[in-house]
Amino acid sequence: MPHPDNITNQTASALLHIDWDDGVRQSLTHTFLRSRCQCADCKRWRKDFNSELIVADDIRLTEIRLVGQYGMQLIFSDGHDRGIYPWPYLRELLCADMTGDIAAAGKTPG
Ligand SMILES: [Zn+2]
Repeated sequence: MPHPDNITNQTASALLHIDWDDGVRQSLTHTFLRSRCQCADCKRWRKDFNSELIVADDIRLTEIRLVGQYGMQLIFSDGHDRGIYPWPYLRELLCADMTGDIAAAGKTPG
């Protein structure tokens, strides 16, 4: 299973970059990461409403805490700090975030 070599959080552009030890580079938007939170509360919300989480555009990832060799805990600007993101789960998001990236890239300023 690949592990991250390097994790960079860019607050200004709201992107989390992960360099994996198998050479893959991954960029995830903060809002996307927040919407895919795996904590019990967020899972229950998604199940109850049968929908992805609704996340404010200005949500930012403010802190990353490594959880052993397992993954990382992400703390967001809305105070949400319960999400643990295991490495295999983050790799799954590699493909899932493509549409999000394209949507974000297509946004025009103003
Ligand atoms: Zn959550």
